[in-house]
This record gives sequence, C-alpha cells and structure tokens, in this order.
Amino acid sequence: MEIKKESKFIKFFRRYGVLSLTCVFCLVIALVVGLTVSSGKGTPVSTGVTTFSLPMENAVIVKDYSDERLQFNESLNRWEIHLSIDLSSENSGVFSVADGTVTAVNSNSLEGDSVEISHNGGFVSIYSSLSDNLEVAVGDKVEAGQKIGEADSSASNESKSGTHLHFTLLKDGVEVDPNNYLDLENK
Ligand SMILES: [Zn+2]
Repeated sequence: MEIKKESKFIKFFRRYGVLSLTCVFCLVIALVVGLTVSSGKGTPVSTGVTTFSLPMENAVIVKDYSDERLQFNESLNRWEIHLSIDLSSENSGVFSVADGTVTAVNSNSLEGDSVEISHNGGFVSIYSSLSDNLEVAVGDKVEAGQKIGEADSSASNESKSGTHLHFTLLKDGVEVDPNNYLDLENK
C-alpha cells in the first residue's frame, strides 16, 4: 500500500513538475522574444540636445522673425511675414550654428546662394543671400562655428537690405523663431 501511494505521488509530481517546467520555459521564451522586439527597430533613439552658436560675429538684426506681424519688404514693395531672421555685420563671414551635415547647396536669383545644414534633434539651418564663394559642399560634415561662406546681397527678394544673411531655422520641417534657440542678445 505504502509503495503504491508513493508511486502515485511521484507520478502526480512528475506530471505537474513537467507542466510547471514547460510553463517556465514558455515564459522565458516569450520574455526573450518580447525584449528582442522592443529593443529593436521602431524604438526612437535620443539624439541629445543640440547646442547652437551664432551664424555671424557681432551681428545686428536687420529684420526680425515674424510669423504674424507683417513687415514691409522694400525690394518686393509689399508687406509680408518673415519666417527668418536677417543679420548683418562688418565681418561678412557666415558660420554653421551647430555640428551637422551639409544637405543642400542652392543658387537662385530670389534667395541668392544658400546652404542647408542638418543637425541633431530634427533641426535644419538654412543660410541664404550668400556670395558664391561657398566654403562647403553637399555631404560635408561641419562643426559649430565653422565658416561656410560670406553674406552678400545676392538675394534679389531682399537686395535692398544690402549685404546680409537671411537665416532660417527649421525644427521637424517647420520654421521656428531663431531667437528661441540662438543667443542673439549676447552676440
Ligand atoms: Zn530675410
């Protein structure tokens, strides 16, 4: 009787023991698969904070950013918003506002020669009304403060503003006020 009871108990234990082990094994597999998926593609990686420097030295704001207030454009003889900031300085050198990669170089009569640089954090800076002696090309890696070209009056849509830099800052493809990112008060 004693032996029969014991063997029944062992059978019971074996059956449920195997079941428990199977459950634990399945849980481990599920966890490993889950962790692998969640740590793989689709998880955004923090790009860190972008630190900005100034695009010109000792610059004066010729025309400020305005997304609602209309400003008169003498060159085009019309009132318009200005989703950029115009700067001029005795030193016409123009410098990248942050580390990044040159993603476009354009030349057209409206905006003159322009350079577009992409940075971390979804920021893109665009420097227009430059002279054609640019110091960078598409694909170049640039550092904050690196000279990229010189301000000019090459943009016909702002030619009456004289030699100046027409500076635009985009965040995730939308124009933002450079005053909120660049320390223009302490130039
Ligand atoms: Zn402008």
